[in-house]
Amino acid sequence: MKFFDSFLIDGKWVSPLGRETRLLYNPANGEIYGKVAMATAADADAAIRSAHAAFIPFAATSKKDRLQLLKSVLNVYERRHGDFAAATTEEMGAPSRLSFEAQVTAGADHIRAVIDAFETFEIEQPHEANVILRREPIGVCVLITPWNWPLNQIAGKVAPALAAGCTMVLKPSELTPMSATIFAEVMIEAGVPAGVFNLVHGDGSVVGTALSSHPLVDMVSFTGSTAAGVKVAINAAPTVKRVTQELGGKSANILLRDADFDTVIEQSVHACMENSGQSCNAPTRIFVPEERHDKIAQKAAAVANALRVGNPLESDIDVGPLVSHAHYERVVNYIRIGQRENAVLAAGGPEPIAHLTPGYFVRPTVFAHVTPDMTIARDEIFGPVLSILSYRDEDEAIALANDTPYGLAAYLCSQDETRALSIARRLRAGQVHLNMAIPGAGTPFGGYRQSGNGREGGIFGIEEFTEIKAIIRPEALAQQGYGVARARGRLLCKTHRRNPG
Ligand code: NAD
Repeated sequence: MKFFDSFLIDGKWVSPLGRETRLLYNPANGEIYGKVAMATAADADAAIRSAHAAFIPFAATSKKDRLQLLKSVLNVYERRHGDFAAATTEEMGAPSRLSFEAQVTAGADHIRAVIDAFETFEIEQPHEANVILRREPIGVCVLITPWNWPLNQIAGKVAPALAAGCTMVLKPSELTPMSATIFAEVMIEAGVPAGVFNLVHGDGSVVGTALSSHPLVDMVSFTGSTAAGVKVAINAAPTVKRVTQELGGKSANILLRDADFDTVIEQSVHACMENSGQSCNAPTRIFVPEERHDKIAQKAAAVANALRVGNPLESDIDVGPLVSHAHYERVVNYIRIGQRENAVLAAGGPEPIAHLTPGYFVRPTVFAHVTPDMTIARDEIFGPVLSILSYRDEDEAIALANDTPYGLAAYLCSQDETRALSIARRLRAGQVHLNMAIPGAGTPFGGYRQSGNGREGGIFGIEEFTEIKAIIRPEALAQQGYGVARARGRLLCKTHRRNPG
């Protein structure tokens, strides 16, 4: 039995101020494997005060020192790769190969992308004739992360916050405290100064609310559901914090008539089902030419049926369990809704997989003949459920793809790059993937509309954690016509004020 019974505050592991704990279940078999202490508002306050006390000295460190620190974090992180992978598989059920090759690697890639971007990052640069622009750390940051790609999201926030010179309190998902605890150990071993990085465990409604409303916090960087993201923004509003939000998605994948169908159908189904469909940018709505709908649905169903679903500890498993029993029930309920709304079940379905029960496994499910008004075409399901919809022409495909409150990612498959690019420009999403291409970690990641505000990744992530200060120098004014005119105007005003009437 593992017990995550302490929080990292001011460089020390401390006992919680409250007594509440929550049990942790292994998603692969439903067995209890541990418990986690739930922080109270008083714990949140202690963690924030620690970050607040550490801010001024850490903000004053040099770029060289912070680069060195980030390299040290990356070094220790990479040494703990195996521990991270084992933790991720145990706590959220990602297949071992996915944990090792993608989940943990994604975190390292974020740290590396931030280091690369920070090497050439200008903290001060000239602007106009007489202005110096400075990028300064925004201050004390609260980082709230979900369970689905736990290390990707933690590293995607911590690394740019450190580069910028911010201090922080991390509150990971209450479902994945293990990987976050190892991450905190990495920070200590890497030499991150006491108070710069603090960790509390707990839920959204108690400690998440306390953190996002605390007056000493300058910024909340949140990743999670749109519903929780809205609450964070409301709680942060009275003290006018910056709030960045990486929220939900319902990403479209348009297969144009000239797509290389043999290749892209398989890739599209895999991209939807990876991580058991628990990815915010998963392509969950495929739009296909209406005359090819049935053939594509058949092929997509065959690809889904060929996926190996099973114990994530076994090798060569494609699809593991969902993260929790509650989430399993939610996803199965959506599959039932799809059936009730008369979508055609081409693969999978709501029935449990007998030999894997009581693990939280859902069959990779493909619905054909989905129409845009159906619940399964509109809601984020966050499970291995793919909807296939038809279009008549490209304008209709684009309109349907954009007909969603979300706008995180979009996918477009075509063999004609010029055409694909012109359509990509019309899709309302933060990333558009052509032919299922995958970007590097320094590429901006974030959403339009209800998928969020702000961008993570490389330089874009660092900039989010900074304030821009303009320092205006008088001596340069005389060197420029514009400056002179403004200076003269001011002198005239002063003269006028000195000699009223
Ligand atoms: P969630 O919103 O339930 O929880 C996310 C985090 O927010 C957790 O740490 C949780 O404790 C905390 N939280 C919940 N309510 C809160 C509140 N009122 N105040 C402060 N914190 C609160 O989401 P989840 O189930 O952990 O993750 C799945 C969701 O995250 C999906 O909607 C998915 O699309 C989204 N997501 C988005 C991205 C992205 O980059 N856009 C990435 C991953 C996941």
